[in-house]
Amino acid sequence: PPDSEELGHATWTFLHTTAAYYPVQPTPTQRANMLTLLHSLPVLYPCTHCADDFGEDIKVNAPDVSGRAGLSRWLCERHNQVNRKLGKEIFDCAKTDERWKDGPAD
Ligand code: FAD
Repeated sequence: PPDSEELGHATWTFLHTTAAYYPVQPTPTQRANMLTLLHSLPVLYPCTHCADDFGEDIKVNAPDVSGRAGLSRWLCERHNQVNRKLGKEIFDCAKTDERWKDGPAD
């Protein structure tokens, strides 16, 4: 099976970075494609139990694809859900842009 730590890290990097640069006011097409991308993960993500749990989570917590801020926050909360399950540190969602977009303030 794939190295789930590296796969997870790479996937979160892709997802958080894509959310950080998602349009502030996405077009209907952009929203629809983001929804398709997120709903594809439970079907295709090559860690089956991860994919299953994520699918259950996003059934209860529907993706917010309304715009950059909402999507970034929603994704941060989903990642924190996984962090909680794995006993990892909870990330401060106020720091999402600093981590994934702007870099640390100096
Ligand atoms: P990661 O959790 O990969 O995080 C990478 C970086 O993101 C961190 O260094 C931090 O800077 C930042 N970060 C952390 N939390 C947040 C947040 N909430 N918001 C924004 N940025 C943040 N692994 C399992 O063992 N079991 C599972 O069920 C499981 N499910 C997963 C489901 C999905 C959809 C994904 C993408 C991954 C899943 N993983 C799962 C993998 C797991 O989440 C980690 O990616 C993996 O354990 C490697 O962890 P890491 O310490 O490198 O940091």
